[in-house]
Amino acid sequence: MSLDDLAGREVEVAIIGSGPAGLTAAIYAARANLHPVVLEGEPSSTSDQPGGQLMLTTDVENYPGFPEGVMGPELMQRFRDQAARFGAQIHTVKASRVDFSEQPYGIWIGDPGADEPALRARTVIVSTGAQSIMLGLDREVELVGHGLSTCATCDGFFFRDQHIAVVGGGDSAMEEATFLTRFASRVTIIHRRDALRASKIMQRRAFDNERIDFMWNSVVEEYLGESTLAGLRIRDTKTGETSTLDVTGCFIAIGHRPNTDLFVGQLEMKENGYLVTEANSTRTVVDGVFACGDVQDDYYRQAVTAAGTGCMAAIEAERYLESLH
Ligand code: NAP
Repeated sequence: MSLDDLAGREVEVAIIGSGPAGLTAAIYAARANLHPVVLEGEPSSTSDQPGGQLMLTTDVENYPGFPEGVMGPELMQRFRDQAARFGAQIHTVKASRVDFSEQPYGIWIGDPGADEPALRARTVIVSTGAQSIMLGLDREVELVGHGLSTCATCDGFFFRDQHIAVVGGGDSAMEEATFLTRFASRVTIIHRRDALRASKIMQRRAFDNERIDFMWNSVVEEYLGESTLAGLRIRDTKTGETSTLDVTGCFIAIGHRPNTDLFVGQLEMKENGYLVTEANSTRTVVDGVFACGDVQDDYYRQAVTAAGTGCMAAIEAERYLESLH
């Protein structure tokens, strides 16, 4: 069914976002005969695109069921095919506005100022994910998965006995660096100031780790290497001097940003912008609106946990719809 056919109609389940959470919700909702409509987003040059963060990943070796590993985009294609096989309608469009003030909830596509929403839904599953904040340097997106990473849990294993860098001075950077010393021969933390933002305990853990060293007052200016990262050009912010750091891997750990702009004023958010859900549930403050995956998870941030909460959201949506009828 095309989007035009949906205009003026009411659907049981609309899913906004198409990473592991959204597509798992789509699989479950479709198999429950709820005919979910998925707004998967639109391809863009940034890290915000259909399929979510796994589209920017190469080998995924920790997703259960793939003992030999699987490429991130292939994994997401499989999720998508599985959802489509059971009848989920997947549209390559972005929601531009939502109105959760009255049932059925309105979702706009394109002009957010239009009088009428593109579709109305009894339940909405929000799975718009999050993005790692990046440095914004040339070739950054294409190097992700080729020496550049934003997830030590996912990719640390690939850097056994190598010298790698971690950028950032917060808890994430300390945690990633400490974790990476399980694999790497040496980890250099590059921080733009001379004092860390991280909590004292995380700082201490990093300072005490003999495989970790620090480059203070330093910023990465350039990624070196052609198709794979082969080093970093570093600038000392005090002296202006540049140097080369010979690393084969670089982990960017300067924070994450949830994709929640669309829900400002509609759903409750934590101070850091992540959506609030009830404990052990995907329920938001609005009845019939559920949030799953990284958009509401600032702690685990794994594909498999996102898929798990996607399943929860679909089951909760189904039960909510039953309660309405
Ligand atoms: P964060 O606390 O915001 O720290 C970000 C770090 O990246 C800061 O040191 C910042 O430098 C640096 N940075 C930001 N933009 C940069 C840029 N463009 N270039 C270079 N450096 C840049 O983020 P986070 O570490 O991800 O932590 C987020 C929240 O999660 C925090 O509340 C943290 O406590 C929590 N967390 C907790 C744990 C844990 O307890 N196990 C683990 C991870 C995260 P400046 O310091 O100069 O601003």
